[in-house]
Amino acid sequence: MNKMLSFLGIILIFLGIILMAYSNTTHEYYVIGDVVGEGGTAENPTACNPELLISDEPATALDVIVAAQVLKLLRELKQKLNLAMILITHDLSIIAETCEKIAVMYAGNVVEYGRVLDIFKEPLHPYTQGLLSVFPGIKASKTRLTSIPGLPPDLLRPPPGCRFNPRCKYAMEICRKTKPELVAIHKEHYVACHLLKS
Ligand code: SF4
Repeated sequence: MNKMLSFLGIILIFLGIILMAYSNTTHEYYVIGDVVGEGGTAENPTACNPELLISDEPATALDVIVAAQVLKLLRELKQKLNLAMILITHDLSIIAETCEKIAVMYAGNVVEYGRVLDIFKEPLHPYTQGLLSVFPGIKASKTRLTSIPGLPPDLLRPPPGCRFNPRCKYAMEICRKTKPELVAIHKEHYVACHLLKS
């Protein structure tokens, strides 16, 4: 049953992406499943080849083989149609394999932004460090995986200052009072943390 649902899901996703990419209708935006395409103009509504593709959790709940096929298709469409692509995901392996840049968000704020290679190699924000430390590496030496303590905050009443402060092992007095700005630490690498200064 699960395999059947996965198969049905992948067919729908494929159809959705292909329809979105090649659609020649009068809409400026396309929302198909979890994929959103933007293209066309009010002046020339038939010129609707999309320029931007946004995909929200493109591989969630899919098995690894199907997920790999979906990502391959997204990459091919991106290349063939010269699309810009934004992926929203919790899956770090998808980011590592598919993206050039990454914006790490915590409780609604971007806390680190930069090139994927730089951030995977040297994460600077404590939340990014925590995220990467809970992700097992195939070639990494055998170590016990750690988790980030605590729970995400209530966004109706977020903690003052840095929103990560109740869970951060480096939290200082200033962290509980002042929200850190996103500042450039290196070229193309931005971090919002009081521990770091540009
Ligand atoms: S600003 Fe403070 S609490 Fe927030 S991540 Fe940096 S050290 Fe931790």
